[in-house]
Amino acid sequence: MHAADASTQCSIPCDLCGSTDVDELCLIDRDGSYLRTVICRRCGLVYSDPRPGFEQVRDYYEHSYRMDYKATFQPKPKHVYRAGKVALDRFRRLAPILKRGYRVLDFGAGSGEVVFVLRAVGYEASGFEPNDGYARFASEVLGLPIRHGFYQDTRIEPESQDVVTAFHVMEHLESPYDALRHVRDWLRPGGQLLVEVPNVEAVCQWPRSRFHRAHLYSFSPAALEMVGRKAGYSVASSSVSSDGGNISVVFQKGSTSALASGEIPGNYERVSSIVRRQTSFRHLFTPYPYVRPFHKIAARMEERRATRNMKSPREILDGLIASELRHE
Ligand SMILES: [Zn+2]
Repeated sequence: MHAADASTQCSIPCDLCGSTDVDELCLIDRDGSYLRTVICRRCGLVYSDPRPGFEQVRDYYEHSYRMDYKATFQPKPKHVYRAGKVALDRFRRLAPILKRGYRVLDFGAGSGEVVFVLRAVGYEASGFEPNDGYARFASEVLGLPIRHGFYQDTRIEPESQDVVTAFHVMEHLESPYDALRHVRDWLRPGGQLLVEVPNVEAVCQWPRSRFHRAHLYSFSPAALEMVGRKAGYSVASSSVSSDGGNISVVFQKGSTSALASGEIPGNYERVSSIVRRQTSFRHLFTPYPYVRPFHKIAARMEERRATRNMKSPREILDGLIASELRHE
């Protein structure tokens, strides 16, 4: 492609490899509005370009972000129940790397359910969350040590944490690389970081739902692993959820900030061909459009049944933990 072609130009250098050689992947958001998504030709990292300024992004997350989804700061019982189920799933993925007495920090703790579950089963867990409404709910209603703030402003004692978790956080940040460098300072030598993000290679959702303006980045497994390596970690394990929708990587803090240039040969070709191949027409010939609505309906019915008596958020979460972790 010609260098002066507008579709290969970007205003933001790649966060992983620093290149500005990109290809346009998509021009619409999942709601149909304009959103330009590009892919780096050198490493295959996918990101929004241009994107809103730093102050706008901060203001959005601090005050409006969750409103887009739930239209309320005080979650309804069904939302607490739903978030509790998600937190239990996250705990199960985290449990293999935990040891008795571990200190765990949840980066972007949301309304606090992961920290709640961890504390209920005996870990010394805390967290921070940039959205003021959710941070207040976590600290005031759930009584958790969750601070309100962005990672750049949150004071965490160096080398004080055994494990840090970041569930669906990295895709929202301006520089995932910078965030992983910060986390590295908070971890003790050999400490671990569990990162979970949506998988840009997923084909379980409608193709038109793939890109979302709240996600500044979309990761492939190879790109996420490389961001961690570049930030001074080794990859202890890496997996993709059974529906292909999410990537989970456990990083281990290494002794040096490695080698990596960030370049990933072949990843641009791989990711762009997966994204371009998945059309709505092809999606109709997979089981996903038919199976997913049934799962959703079953989950909503269960939520309604479990929260019928409108118990307090703490009671709902304690009940979930008692019924789901009792036999494990
Ligand atoms: Zn790159």
